[in-house]
Amino acid sequence: MLAMKAQTLKDALKQHFGFDAFKGRQEEIIQSILSSKDTLVIMPTGGGKSLCYQLPALVSEGTALVISPLIALMKNQVDLIRGYASDDTIAHFYNSSLNKAEKKQVLEDVSAGKTKLLYIAPETLTKSDSIDFFKEANISFVAVDEAHCISEWGHDFRPEYRKIRKMIEGIGDEIPMIALTATATPKVQSDILKTLKMVEPTIFIDSFNRENLYYEIRPKKNEEATLKNIVGFIRSRESKSGIIYTINRKTTEKVANLLQVNGINAKPYHAGLDSKLRSATQDDFLMERVDVVVATIAFGMGIDKPDIRFVIHYDLPKSLENYYQETGRAGRDGLGGDCICYYNYKDVTKLEHLLKDKPVSERQRALQLIDETLAFIESSVCRRRFILHYFGEQYETNNCGQCDNCKNPKEQIDVSKEFLTILKGIVNTSEKFDIQYLVKFFTGVKSSEFGEYGHNNLAEYGVFKEDQAHFVQGIIRQALIADFLWKDIEQYGVISLTEKGRNFLAKPGSFSFTQNHDYKSEGEETVSHSKGSALDEALLKVLKDLRRKVAAQHALPPYVIFQDASLEDMATTYPISSDEFANIQGVSKGKALRYGKQFSDVIKKYVEENDIERPDDFVVKTTVNKSSDKVKIIQAVDKRLPLEDLAKNLGLSYQELLNEIETIVNSGTKLDISYAIDDALDEDLAEDIYEYFRESETDSLESALEEFEEEDIDLEDVQIVRIKFMSENGN
Ligand code: ADP
Ligand code: MG
Ligand code: ZN
Repeated sequence: MLAMKAQTLKDALKQHFGFDAFKGRQEEIIQSILSSKDTLVIMPTGGGKSLCYQLPALVSEGTALVISPLIALMKNQVDLIRGYASDDTIAHFYNSSLNKAEKKQVLEDVSAGKTKLLYIAPETLTKSDSIDFFKEANISFVAVDEAHCISEWGHDFRPEYRKIRKMIEGIGDEIPMIALTATATPKVQSDILKTLKMVEPTIFIDSFNRENLYYEIRPKKNEEATLKNIVGFIRSRESKSGIIYTINRKTTEKVANLLQVNGINAKPYHAGLDSKLRSATQDDFLMERVDVVVATIAFGMGIDKPDIRFVIHYDLPKSLENYYQETGRAGRDGLGGDCICYYNYKDVTKLEHLLKDKPVSERQRALQLIDETLAFIESSVCRRRFILHYFGEQYETNNCGQCDNCKNPKEQIDVSKEFLTILKGIVNTSEKFDIQYLVKFFTGVKSSEFGEYGHNNLAEYGVFKEDQAHFVQGIIRQALIADFLWKDIEQYGVISLTEKGRNFLAKPGSFSFTQNHDYKSEGEETVSHSKGSALDEALLKVLKDLRRKVAAQHALPPYVIFQDASLEDMATTYPISSDEFANIQGVSKGKALRYGKQFSDVIKKYVEENDIERPDDFVVKTTVNKSSDKVKIIQAVDKRLPLEDLAKNLGLSYQELLNEIETIVNSGTKLDISYAIDDALDEDLAEDIYEYFRESETDSLESALEEFEEEDIDLEDVQIVRIKFMSENGN
């Protein structure tokens, strides 16, 4: 094949695709493959990779074989090409979805030289009769799309991809090859080149920077708070398209269900659903009949929806590459895209659990990838910089302005001295160990491995205290990103100095560091962007005054009217309608009926007077869960089953059972647990505690216990009386 004149190529672009100009480096890439050079293209999603092989195929003699992993995508691509052409024979796909007659037709069209592009699955290509056929056909070149599938280090490994080279060799000698992918770490790049045995390849790497995407990690405290946060987030982006990724089918269903209950047009998508249903959901999403898809990672590969405005990771992504690929589906049209990832350390355990039956080598690889993701999550370095570094790119801008870490930068600490010590320690241990070993070494963990290598005699052994492990790890990780250190993944993650690191050692300069995030400890809150999530202290005070008044009218303690948590919820979400009111935490139907109007009138007035933009859409309805437990508890209490036995039956502790019962009572169901009180407490004492709750300003159990400190009772005894009191007076 031969390179073409620029004008001729441009005319072909216009003629076949209707575009006036090439995008990015498309033209160079096309010329490269037209000159029969092996070509590797790494270009972010949406960059226009398909055209890089489609156009040269259309202007060349013979048929280009396009290897692509997904049958569903092939049909899409073929339809697209046919849409531009006058004759359907110009493009075909060849895979297991065709019947015999259809296959025969395809092969005839190829033989007749009518077909310029033949999409084929690697499984089909590797069949021997395919090879025999293609040997006879005129093949212009081979395109390997989604080439990262070839590497076990990529995010979507397909074993059949490893056989491609052998098949091509069976078909002909010097067939040029172009491989394309949107994600490839340096490790995956070299895997692609090696496994496809590309000859003196020309490599085109686009920047991986997606300037229009905003990255943020949010702590995932508990399910309820997280879901509430997500509902608020989505509602502030009304009818915008988005994807939520979760780790398993069950969570997918649960989250989708909760969104639906809250009036969000959402659907679940996972491998357990019938394939018809799945493709219907995909269509609905593309056609904007569905706004949000809650999916396992099975969704979205190759989805060409340009205006996805947000991608939420409800669970921790499996690798940073997955994260990049999945978030990359947002903002393909170049407009904004918010990428929010919720994180809780427990997710790591969940991911590890998924790996438990995998072969050791695969498990170890996966654990390393998870570790890398964790480093990203905990890092206080610019998210963009971190991601780009992962793909072998140095991002020099100081503040990208488009990630949580750049928006709320942490204080820089000068750690030049500590850093120098760490570099020396790495050199003195001969640059042969991974980060785990080094952290243990620097913090002086007692372990026989150090004796084995004589490392416990080195000056740097144990220079940091054991509780500084996080600190040392943070410095090493940030030094990796800043290119002072290099981690060799192929060599089990061994860390060594780069030239920059050696220069620092020879002529020490300054090195600063920002403390990592510690999402495990309480108190850290990233800025919340959802409106209406802040507690309105002024309104809270107004509501407390009202509660006191109402309580006095009914001769009841204030907390019997509404508990503090309920008032706080009101002062956060400004409920006005009775529906909204019934959704307030701890508010039963009965209470909403009895007191709702008085309170909502006050809230309404307050909202008007203070000109508050009410987040009227911020009421989050929860789906009923544990309903089976609830029924069991109510039935058992009716039958006067001893509570200890009931707790055992339900697999709860006694304390947990009391909490459950209290929740049931506080949401408006009357339960008579007098029998349990008779079992637990002296009758007079129970009476006294009961009266105490009537008089008390607070329903705090601790205060009650203090009041009765002379008596031989504990928290559960007080709580059980409180339950009786609330059941009889509270609703
Ligand atoms: P990738 O495979 O890299 O993710 P695609 O090949 O699907 O990207 O292309 C993304 C979008 O860019 C498509 O909608 C395509 O039509 C469009 N596109 C490709 N090349 C051009 C061009 N030269 N001019 C305008 N649009 C283009
Ligand atoms: Mg593509
Ligand atoms: Zn940033």
